[in-house]
Amino acid sequence: MQDLPKGRVLVLDDDPDICATIQGIAELAGYDTRATSHTAPFFVLYEEWVPTHVIVDLSLPGVDGIDILRQLAQSAAVARVIITSGLGTRVLEAAGRAASEGGLTVNGLLPKPFSPARLRTLLEFAGQVAAGGRPPDIRHAPPPSVPHERRPLPEPLSQERFELALQQAEFTVYYQPKLACIDGVLVGFEALARWPRAGGGFVSSPDVFVPFAERHGLVAEFTRQVFHQALQRFGALAPPPGLHLSLNISAKSLVDPGFPAWVRQCCEQHGVLPRQVTLEVTETASMQNPLMTLELLTQFRIQGFQLSIDDFGVGYSSLVQLARLPFSEMKIDKTFVMSAETSAESQKIITAIIGLAHALGLQVTAEGVEDAWALDFLRDYSCDYAQGYHISRPMPPEQLGDWLQPGAAWRRSVQ
Ligand code: C2E
Ligand code: CA
Ligand code: CA
Repeated sequence: MQDLPKGRVLVLDDDPDICATIQGIAELAGYDTRATSHTAPFFVLYEEWVPTHVIVDLSLPGVDGIDILRQLAQSAAVARVIITSGLGTRVLEAAGRAASEGGLTVNGLLPKPFSPARLRTLLEFAGQVAAGGRPPDIRHAPPPSVPHERRPLPEPLSQERFELALQQAEFTVYYQPKLACIDGVLVGFEALARWPRAGGGFVSSPDVFVPFAERHGLVAEFTRQVFHQALQRFGALAPPPGLHLSLNISAKSLVDPGFPAWVRQCCEQHGVLPRQVTLEVTETASMQNPLMTLELLTQFRIQGFQLSIDDFGVGYSSLVQLARLPFSEMKIDKTFVMSAETSAESQKIITAIIGLAHALGLQVTAEGVEDAWALDFLRDYSCDYAQGYHISRPMPPEQLGDWLQPGAAWRRSVQ
């Protein structure tokens, strides 16, 4: 039997000969490979084939390599990046710095022409660095805590695989508690979809599979399954009236006129009141079809649901649109909260968003609260609610009950 591949290498280079050379070297070294000279198929493969490594040429005709790296950093990038170019090491080093500061894991730089040995070293870097230091010449890669090969490879996504997962009801829901900043009282949970893998771990992360479902017309059924599970579980807790469940809505659901009535009926079925439910919509999503969005969101509010604008600060909505839509809550994007301690700029953005939300009569939740410092900062600046790993990671439903015990730890009791 053939050995399992060490990983999946995706190459973006406008020169087919270079693509073929890189593929040949990587395949000999034990990797599966794909290559393309165009950005559109590159990003489709990136999302769906889930490479472990990407090799990106900086100078594609008509395309800015830095834009590609930025786009990779903005997606739920998990692949290690190798940047290649014939433009010389200064340009490569600047691109490498930009990529790693943007959040990518840069395995290294590959100036052209390159030797097979150098490419192999850069590929292997992820798997073997645990034994000691970094290989020479690689300045941008933080050593991984777990060697790459020991982790199961993420599964490539396909429409058939996703449909099967829906048929077999493979998706489950985790819950992340949300506390009032002022006194640490539990005010609710956010439901977050998970796709468990048989035998442990997860098939893929929601940052990847939710956009995949949206692209393939599968998000309506996915949302139905997630909402049923989450509402059923929440209803079964017999939650006190002040406790909320937050559910994420996809942009694609905001073009279905039957959606508000369906959600209300789903709540009724599971004994949950609409006023206990907050629907979270991302800022960009809520702006795609302004009239329909306005109608549907208003219907939700009339029925008594709360509405939250998610990931605030990273989208592109205008403030006018924001003020005209009937939101009741704003969620500050976690990137600002996670960087607040070290970034005066993030602090200013957070306090400005809190001020804006309060001026518009909205409540504010900060997500990505990873330490006590962030929670104290948010409390000092009158943020209403907080969510984050410092309080709790998203947890499986079995653990929900613990959070509702009268004797639960400080910040965890419901009043
Ligand atoms: P989101 O709605 O912004 O959810 C917050 C994400 O931040 C979650 O990622 C959560 O696990 C993560 N998070 C919470 N606290 C912290 C923290 O302190 N530090 C860090 N680094 N991360 C934190 P998750 O569960 O991977 O979900 C990713 C995104 O997938 C969600 O972002 C949401 O946009 C989408 N998603 C998840 N479930 C669903 C769903 O059922 N339907 C839809 N339409 N989208 C969903
Ligand atoms: Ca959310
Ligand atoms: Ca968010």
